[in-house]
Amino acid sequence: MVSTLRTVLGDVLPEQLGVCDAHDHLFLSTPLLPGQGLRDAAAARAELAAFRAQGGGGVMQWTPYGLGRRAADLPALARESGVHVVAATGLHQAGHYGEGTLERLRGRLAEVFVAELTEGIGASGVRAGFVKVAAGFHALDAHARWTMAAAAEAHHATGAPVAVHLELGTGALDVLDLLCGELGMPPDRVILGHLNRSPDFVVHHQAAEAGAYLAFDGPSRAHHATDWRMPNAVRALAEAGFTDRLLLGGDTTTAGARSVSGGPGMPYLLRRVRPRLEMAVGVQVVERMLTENPARAFSVEWH
Ligand SMILES: [Zn+2]
Repeated sequence: MVSTLRTVLGDVLPEQLGVCDAHDHLFLSTPLLPGQGLRDAAAARAELAAFRAQGGGGVMQWTPYGLGRRAADLPALARESGVHVVAATGLHQAGHYGEGTLERLRGRLAEVFVAELTEGIGASGVRAGFVKVAAGFHALDAHARWTMAAAAEAHHATGAPVAVHLELGTGALDVLDLLCGELGMPPDRVILGHLNRSPDFVVHHQAAEAGAYLAFDGPSRAHHATDWRMPNAVRALAEAGFTDRLLLGGDTTTAGARSVSGGPGMPYLLRRVRPRLEMAVGVQVVERMLTENPARAFSVEWH
């Protein structure tokens, strides 16, 4: 069996990915960010081009079901920019949805995830490459347990990795207890997001030791209070031997945060975060975080 990354243009070998933004958004619309949605395909195209100009080769788009993924637009954007784009299935926290949407998914959530991974998102024919779900602040509510159970089921059916939004970076160990302890997922198929938002180096160490991937994503956006601690958090993990567990992402979530709107956007990851991290852990470690690690974390022996 060959491991591949399931991009919006089809499956590719992991070594084709290149320098990867392991957590970002080209499109995202949620009632929690009214009027700030990422909806404009021309802006997404320009953002990808700016990322490409900084040496970017791949983007993992963590926008899940029902939040304006615009899956049908993704193949053209990937083709025109020359950047590999991987789309997600999955479900965010309940607050991002109207009750009607969630009711329609009761009893068939895993089925929807599997269909989007294997057949396509809606009528687009574009397949998702991973499952994105979300935890709560230091806790897992009934919605999080429901979506994670479906995500684990979809993993077991397809091999797809599961990427988790940690609320303000908390709850990592509860998520691993549920997905790996109760639901039988291998830890190296779990990608924890937003570790930078809760700089508890002991919890980081425990999550890495358990075998999960840790994504440090979202520099200089809405959650900037801990940005300055990120290089030291990454260095502590690298020095403890967990270099191969580390991922980097930009997590652009509003139109105003795109570089083409005057925000940091996707290129910032390569333009400013990369050289800053190189000062903390060296060029080779950062290179692995941007290439080998995301290629390994998101590639799958699909079944
Ligand atoms: Zn995100």
